[in-house]
Amino acid sequence: MMKLDLLEECKDAERIGISGHVRPDGDCVGSCLGLWQYLVKCLPGVKVQVYLEKPADIFREIKGFGEIDSSYPEEEPFDVFIVLDSVAEAGRIGDAWKYFQTAKKTINIDHHISNPGSGHISEVHPEVGSTSELIYDLIDPDRLDRELATALYVGMIHDTGVFQYSNTTPATLEKGAKLISHGVDFPRLIQETFYQKTYVQAQIMGRTLMESIRFLDESCIVSAIDKKTLEFYHAEPKDLDGIVNQLRNIEGIECAIFMYQTNVLEYKVSLRSGEKVNVADIAAYFGGGGHARAAGCTMSGTFHDCVNNLSLHIEKQLKRWNET
Ligand code: AMP
Ligand code: MN
Ligand code: MN
Repeated sequence: MMKLDLLEECKDAERIGISGHVRPDGDCVGSCLGLWQYLVKCLPGVKVQVYLEKPADIFREIKGFGEIDSSYPEEEPFDVFIVLDSVAEAGRIGDAWKYFQTAKKTINIDHHISNPGSGHISEVHPEVGSTSELIYDLIDPDRLDRELATALYVGMIHDTGVFQYSNTTPATLEKGAKLISHGVDFPRLIQETFYQKTYVQAQIMGRTLMESIRFLDESCIVSAIDKKTLEFYHAEPKDLDGIVNQLRNIEGIECAIFMYQTNVLEYKVSLRSGEKVNVADIAAYFGGGGHARAAGCTMSGTFHDCVNNLSLHIEKQLKRWNET
C-alpha cells in the first residue's frame, strides 16, 4: 500500500518537474508521461515539465512525447521534483540530478529492488511489476482517459514483457483490463512499441545471436557488440532493446548477458535470468542494479574480463541452487 497522496503533496506547488533514468525504456517513458498528463489535468495553472534523455521514436504517440525536454536547461529550483523508475542519483538520472538536488520537495517512485529510496518522500515497491502500475495505483481512476491509459499501458507491457514475466500479478492484469476499457489501441501499441524492429535493429540482433557464446555447461550465454560495429550500422543504444531477451529465450539458458561497448575498456551490461540466478545481486555488486530477473550495470575491462567476472558470480549462484 502506498502512503503517498500525490495531489496533496503537490497542492502548493507552482512548478513541478518529472524525470526518470538515462536511456529511458517503455516503463520510464510511460510512467513519466502518464504522471505528467495526470498532474496537468488535475492541477490547472501549475507548470509541469518532463526531463528525459530523448526516448526512442516508437513512443511518439504517447501524449506529451513532444513536450519532453532533453536539453536540461538551467532552471530555478522546482517546488516539487519527482523521479520515476530509478533511484535518484547522479549517474542514473543524468542531468536531471541538478534539479533533484535543488528542489524544495523531492519524491521518488520506483519498483527496483536495488533502490534504497531517495529524496524527501520515497515509494519503492519491488513487488510491483512496473512504475507505470505504481502510477496507476496513485491516481484517481475517475480521471483516466484514453491518452493516460495509453501511457500507463505502454509502461506496463514493456516491463512485464506483455504480461508474460513473473512480475505480472492478477492485480496487474486487472489494471490492464481497466486501461484497455478506455479504448487503448493495444494490438497496434504492442506490435509497434514492443515487437516491431527496424531492419537495422533486426540485422544487429541477428548478428549478435550469431556471434553469441555459451558457457558454464551451456547454461549461460553472452554476446557483445563493439563501438565500431554500432557506428557501422549508425545504431544507438536504444536500437539494442530486446536483444538480451532474445538470448534468454534460447532453450536451456539460465542466464543471458548482452554487452555493448560504451568506451575503450567499458561496457554497458544487461543481464536476464530464469529462476536460478538473481541478477539484481550480481549487477549491484558491479555498481548497477535492477530486478531479480532483469538487471544492468556498467563494467570496465575487456570483453573477456567482464565475462570472467560475471561468470564467477553466476557460477556461485548456480552451485548454490543445485545444492538446495
Ligand atoms: P537493461 O538491461 O539496461 O534493460 O536493464 C534491466 C533493468 O535493470 C532495468 O529495470 C533497469 O532500470 C535496471 N538497470 C540497468 N542498469 C542499471 C544500473 N546501472 N543501475 C541500476 N539499475 C539498472
Ligand atoms: Mn526502466
Ligand atoms: Mn520499470
